[in-house]
Amino acid sequence: MIIDGKQIAKKIRKNIHDKVKQLDRAPNLVVILVGNDPASAVYVRNKENACIEVGFSSEKIVLPESITQEDLLANIKRLNNDDLVDGILVQLPLPKHLDPNQVIENINYAKDVDGFNSRNIGELIQNRAILRPCTPKGVMTMLKEINIDLAGKDVTMVGASNIVGRPLAIELLNAGATVTICNSKTKDLKNKVKRADIVAVAVGRAEMINGDWIKDGAIVIDVGINRLDDGRLVGDVDFNSIKDKASWITPVPGGVGPMTIATLLENTLIAYNARNS
Ligand code: NDP
Repeated sequence: MIIDGKQIAKKIRKNIHDKVKQLDRAPNLVVILVGNDPASAVYVRNKENACIEVGFSSEKIVLPESITQEDLLANIKRLNNDDLVDGILVQLPLPKHLDPNQVIENINYAKDVDGFNSRNIGELIQNRAILRPCTPKGVMTMLKEINIDLAGKDVTMVGASNIVGRPLAIELLNAGATVTICNSKTKDLKNKVKRADIVAVAVGRAEMINGDWIKDGAIVIDVGINRLDDGRLVGDVDFNSIKDKASWITPVPGGVGPMTIATLLENTLIAYNARNS
């Protein structure tokens, strides 16, 4: 069966919209876009549209490609000190001369709606985070939606980036699963995938995992988004060869992608509530 991220995300947005109507003021998300990378501009536009849909106020700050680290940090400081700003997001990747880690560390952790700040990641590891990274948290919402009890499940997490693989592995561990985390150096990856009750993949290689790798009845979460030469968007798993083997699978597009933005909205509301309670 398909885990319909589009549908679940729609439900989340409706729920947030209903809650926002009860608030004294609209939660405010500020997105900083540095330079003019077209893909980043599309992501930022999608985030702005999602904010409008749920009744948030959202501000986009576009800074020149040539901005210095110091000036970018000054912008963040100003937003940290602005009581009417609930969430701050700096769209990644940044131009090469800027240090993304220092930028993330300078966002007030209570406004870090991406959940990438080391304090928020540290709290995630201790299973007490308030702001959790959006894509991994979105995946957890999807698993909850299909009523899977994760306790004792064998999970293979393929990919170990700071923004997806690692925090998703920790989320799954926090939920009681036994997690094997794989990266580009992993030996015998196929067998590690084949023994898993749940396989989550965030690598960035089109359709690298096919039906031969998957245990009958496994749950397959595909985080990958890859654009093929013919323009098609595909995940990191080969949907067609897996769909009849897996008990549940997330499609691409329409799976994890929409959950990431819905979770960003959730985090903005959480940040608003935490700062205004
Ligand atoms: P990164 O490139 O940052 O990380 C990729 C990870 O995959 C690394 O840990 C790398 O290992 C590992 N890897 C690379 N090749 C292999 C291999 N052959 N076998 C096993 N592991 C391998 O990517 P991201 O995590 O940022 O993104 C992954 C995918 O998810 C991309 O397609 C991206 O577009 C998508 N994405 C989707 C989102 C959504 O909302 N749906 C959000 C964010 C990302 P090593 O650590 O050794 O280098």
